[in-house]
Amino acid sequence: MRRIAAHYLFSRGEVIPRPVVECDSEGVITKVEQWERLDNLAATEFYAGALTAGFVNAHCHLELSYLHGAIEPKTGFGGFARAIGMVRNNYSSQQRQQALAAASARMWAEGVEAVADIINDDSSLEHKSQSPIRYRNFAELFGLNTPAEAMNHLLSAPNTTLTPHSTYSLQSATFAAAATADTLSIHFMESPDEEALYRGEGSLAAWYARMGWECDFIHYGSPAARLVGQVASDKKLLLIHCCCMTDADMELLSHHFSTPPTFVLCPQSNDYISGLRPPVELLLRHGAHVAVGTDSLASNGNLSIVEELKLLPEVPLAKGLEWASWGGAKALGLESELGSIEVGKRPGIVLIEGVENRNGELRLTPTAHTRRLV
Ligand SMILES: [Zn+2]
Repeated sequence: MRRIAAHYLFSRGEVIPRPVVECDSEGVITKVEQWERLDNLAATEFYAGALTAGFVNAHCHLELSYLHGAIEPKTGFGGFARAIGMVRNNYSSQQRQQALAAASARMWAEGVEAVADIINDDSSLEHKSQSPIRYRNFAELFGLNTPAEAMNHLLSAPNTTLTPHSTYSLQSATFAAAATADTLSIHFMESPDEEALYRGEGSLAAWYARMGWECDFIHYGSPAARLVGQVASDKKLLLIHCCCMTDADMELLSHHFSTPPTFVLCPQSNDYISGLRPPVELLLRHGAHVAVGTDSLASNGNLSIVEELKLLPEVPLAKGLEWASWGGAKALGLESELGSIEVGKRPGIVLIEGVENRNGELRLTPTAHTRRLV
């Protein structure tokens, strides 16, 4: 049995001052209460900071960890894709294994409990089978000429299902074949070129024309309309990035899907690649379901959830932390076990050091960081 006290507790968008959280030796929460006086806290660990449930990193490509620092920032969407292609084969399998194991261990130490991870190969699977992190793998189908069978060998891995990469990189038949699992994770509206392609404009359209690739999905008219046209309404969607999403896209999607999609924000990656920003104002205004991801170390200096939240200063901290734990847990169907500090759950307990009260508003300081307590 452990009793853990701190200045604040964040859970499901609420802030509880002076919390004491009690958990058993397995990490199952047995009691949440408030302390009155510090000198009254017998047999209790006290931390100067805030507690939150373990995080769910709702978008990562762990297998790309070896590309940390290998790709120039701010080259734009097309430049980034080209650069990955050029450096991808320069690393040994040992370098790849060391990089992904170190990145995963650091995520765990900083409080990540579960990860929605994109895989294109089997390089991360052995590590994941031994990791305390709960990995949910999305085997991503990618490429205008790829048959859906190409990923079948990955689908025998635990917690792994197929997903289409995006609305611009798969022909119609392949997209449909990749979109049959209950939950899908799709890169969406990361750049203005995704929408421009449907008008025959922008860098994607120019690149495809140069390569002689024809797209048989342009008639849908837009990325959002293609999702509505090609994904059954009962699917749960994680839509990744969404920087260029509009109100009209949002309404189209909300109307079609019986479970509202989860919009997964990766602000550090957007900043690294293009300098674009996630559509925070739009999402707050619509009361959308939101989660937070890190994307990969190819387009990020770290896989730290709290560093992602520092790039969303317009989001109240309690809301940002709700997105980072509850939002991701719900998107993966894990909310009965993870995502909030509640009696009976085993969510992991994370300490945030560097939370300041500025005129009654709780904010992260520039040096704020997290570590796992339970
Ligand atoms: Zn991604």
